[in-house]
Amino acid sequence: MTTTPTRTPPTARQGPLPDPARLRAAVEEYAHAFRATALAMDEPGADPRTLNPVVHDAYFPVLLGLPPAYNPDPLIVDGRPCHLHSCVERVVVYERLAWGDAALMVAAPGPSLSGVLTEELGDDDQKERYYTTLAARPTWTFFALTEPHAGSDATALTTALTESGTESGTEPGTGSGGSGSYRLSGVKKYIGNAVRADLGVVFARIRPGPVGVVAVLVEPTRPGFTATALPTTGMRAIGLSEVRLDDVPVSRSDILGMHLSATRRGIVGAMRTFNRARPVVAAMALGIAQAAWDYAAVHRRALRADESHAREVLRRRLAGTRRLVLAAAEQADRDPGDGTVASAAKYRAAELALETAEYALGLFGPGARLEHPLLDKLHRDARAFEFMEGTGTMQRLNLALGHRKGRILDD
Ligand SMILES: Cc1cc2nc3c(=O)[nH]c(=O)nc-3n(C[C@H](O)[C@H](O)[C@H](O)COP(=O)(O)OP(=O)(O)OC[C@H]3O[C@@H](n4cnc5c(N)ncnc54)[C@H](O)[C@@H]3O)c2cc1C
Repeated sequence: MTTTPTRTPPTARQGPLPDPARLRAAVEEYAHAFRATALAMDEPGADPRTLNPVVHDAYFPVLLGLPPAYNPDPLIVDGRPCHLHSCVERVVVYERLAWGDAALMVAAPGPSLSGVLTEELGDDDQKERYYTTLAARPTWTFFALTEPHAGSDATALTTALTESGTESGTEPGTGSGGSGSYRLSGVKKYIGNAVRADLGVVFARIRPGPVGVVAVLVEPTRPGFTATALPTTGMRAIGLSEVRLDDVPVSRSDILGMHLSATRRGIVGAMRTFNRARPVVAAMALGIAQAAWDYAAVHRRALRADESHAREVLRRRLAGTRRLVLAAAEQADRDPGDGTVASAAKYRAAELALETAEYALGLFGPGARLEHPLLDKLHRDARAFEFMEGTGTMQRLNLALGHRKGRILDD
């Protein structure tokens, strides 16, 4: 899809969500196309922009997940347009495509986390700017929150947004002598796709305290922006990067959420974004788990009793976790302010991905990693899911908080 979209007002979803099995079947061809390049994409330095033709062809319009007003060419399921805009639709599709290759899924062009944030915090002009860019051509985006010394504790971030002509610590645009132009300085680490991105968001501090954080829309072509690829063992295709920001120029119109109260911007926006993204990350982990399980089922048919028992236990856990992921997606679509079930799903699915890959590798004995490179990759990719969108410990802390607030386990 490279046409300029016809702007029509966003339409409310018509009728019920598509049947998950039929939605999944609609992307089956793409899942196999992902799988076909999974090992090639795993080579260090492999670039999804050149290596996988489907990125520029068939799957691009399907996966973008643009709002209806910007996507005139959506997937059609059961005769209805399916924009993959709801979390429930996304978990079904992302699981299946991650079964093909989770790394390529994250390395794909499209809105990803920065889109969810822009939708959460952006004003009409910012959304127009963001989505018009993405609708025009395959566009890679990034979401830069993590810093070398502020990963799990995002409130400790130190990247600074300083208004020219004012002291740091002044509310944007309100300081005496404020110019409406700013400078962004700091370092971000472990940022997916930053080395190849065309647009993204950077979280920065405008003043001390938890509500002193804002997110700004930034193009990496701006002076002072440098992204460097980090070597990684798993999820290699995603171009994990370190981003250096040396006095990157920013204007007031780049700051997301200026029409909202200070408490709604920044970290609160990030948390709501994570609550909507975690079910999708959980779905991708589930895709890895299912891929490892399927691989073992096809390549190792004769099992000992204990192996067969372990396989059955994993099959049931896959089914149970899939239900949990769907419940988390429904919750996120209903109320993105409550991420309790999303944390449970992400924690469980990440754990299951690793355990299933370990089980599958164990079935093939010494040399399994060399003789079964896909399993080796699945196992390495699974490890990344412990960290993406927050570690397992942080998910359990969220669960405990949700429990104390009576959001779960209160029957
Ligand atoms: C594949 C991949 C892709 C990523 N993509 C992005 C991206 O696009 N954008 C982005 O901003 N970030 C991204 N990240 C970074 C990710 O969000 C962080 O790795 C994660 O938030 C953890 O931060 P950290 O690595 O600094 O670990 P730390 O926060 O330093 O944690 C280290 C350990 O301490 C534990 N810990 C930390 N705090 C507590 C606490 N209060 N109580 C108990 N235990 C604690 C953690 O559970 C963990 O085990 C990505 C990471 C990976 C692996």
